[in-house]
Amino acid sequence: MKICIIGTGYVGLVTGTCLADFGFSVTCVDQDKNKISLLNSGGVPIYETNLPPLIEKNISAGRLTFTTDLEKAVKESKVIFIAVGTPPNHDGSADLQQIEKVTQQIAVSLKDYKGYKVIVNKSTVPIGTARKIKQIIQEYQNKTDKNAPFSIIARSEATKQSHPSSVIPAKAGIHPAYPSPLRVEGRVKVKYFFDIVSNPEFLREGSAVYDFTHPDKIVIGSTSPKALKIMQEIYRPLYLIDTPFVITNPETAELIKYACNAFLATKITFINEIANLCDKVGADVHQIAKAMGLDGRISPKFLHPGPGYGGSCFPKDTEALYHFASTCGYDFKLLKGVISANKLQREIMIEKIKHHIGDLKGKTIAILGLAFKQNTDDIRKSPAVDIIQLLLKEGVHVRCFDPLAMDNTKKILPNLTYCQDEYETARGSDALVITAEWNQFRNLDLSKIKKSLKSLILLDLRNLYEPATLKSLGFIYEGVGRR
Ligand code: NAD
Repeated sequence: MKICIIGTGYVGLVTGTCLADFGFSVTCVDQDKNKISLLNSGGVPIYETNLPPLIEKNISAGRLTFTTDLEKAVKESKVIFIAVGTPPNHDGSADLQQIEKVTQQIAVSLKDYKGYKVIVNKSTVPIGTARKIKQIIQEYQNKTDKNAPFSIIARSEATKQSHPSSVIPAKAGIHPAYPSPLRVEGRVKVKYFFDIVSNPEFLREGSAVYDFTHPDKIVIGSTSPKALKIMQEIYRPLYLIDTPFVITNPETAELIKYACNAFLATKITFINEIANLCDKVGADVHQIAKAMGLDGRISPKFLHPGPGYGGSCFPKDTEALYHFASTCGYDFKLLKGVISANKLQREIMIEKIKHHIGDLKGKTIAILGLAFKQNTDDIRKSPAVDIIQLLLKEGVHVRCFDPLAMDNTKKILPNLTYCQDEYETARGSDALVITAEWNQFRNLDLSKIKKSLKSLILLDLRNLYEPATLKSLGFIYEGVGRR
């Protein structure tokens, strides 16, 4: 089976490579010529553990190719995955322009096609987007053929089951779940069959290949038995390792993705709030998180306090869900609280720094960690970047280091002092602030750090160190919810 993935970013590249490794013939498409030529010359545009050898293996096996030619890839593939960006608009809603553009491109590419295709949306999108994708393709088909003797529309495989003939009454609609947007009188002829599937992705950057091949679940939103069968064939290797499948309608699948991310963001924010309270009363958040995590109903995951969640997903997805709920007339108060508490968490970190250094103007601060978390070069909505921007406003000179994210950070913050390693970063600084949980920051040579720093202040915003150990070495130490 031939598959194409449109959008060769974190999700598209990992999905395409892993599906090629499952044995399918996969074409990854991107409009970014530089990205495609880098991939075609053996490079990998993102950092992701275990991804480069898997790409190389599948290119060599002839199962994985990269192109900017969307039309050709769509025409040749039975299944078309959409994995483009859904960034936030100014009001927090999801910007669906990339999805809409790709959908139109797919519709144009399929103009003269007569067979059946499955169009799978993997991007995180508001509820109703699968329906919108379907409408766009149908409207395009209708527009293209308005002069034809019969009005011609695309027709879902799901409909075929309830209307076995290839000519159906226009007023019948497409499927109960997808009322036809078209108002065509008379009879309509089927041009080609297609189904839209919502298949949200749950991988985490930094462990994306492992997550894709060992997922907790696969969610497939479709009402078409034919499309479901094809999706099950695609994910068959995961059936063999007993991955649970949640088969549902597209709207539910779309909401599952937002519900998961909003819940995890809430859990992080909850433990941050408990940590802030610990700071006021002298309790230790680690012991609280440990005790909470031992409760099987809670689980220990996502109970690590810090500077607030970041990255390309949680901030935008919480905002998008809040905004979407508002447009449905529902005030999602809990989520509103989570979003504002998370923003405030960055400022609370600045207050911590000020508490130890005093007036920040003219001070030099060493920042360890720029990526939004360890094992990635992604700095989208990174807490470190937000904290640096707040420090710069206060007149601070920032020295910094990150094992992978320096090049990306230089593009948006060119005026920082970028250092070779942790020790050069600390040199001459008024404080050292750990902002990302890279493993190599867990075992710093503290005597070397001590010699490099101007003042022995260490603010550990990821709680990597034991307060008592650091204090015994002469540091002024503070974590988040423990000191
Ligand atoms: P990304 O920005 O890394 O990649 C998107 C790619 O799509 C870019 O390379 C862009 O050039 C390409 N693109 C956009 N329009 C195109 C077009 N018309 N034709 C061809 N290519 C086009 O995005 P990402 O991080 O991979 O996220 C993609 C989607 O998956 C988003 O909705 C995101 O919320 C969701 N998601 C992301 C993650 C993650 O960890 N990054 C995890 C789960 C879900």
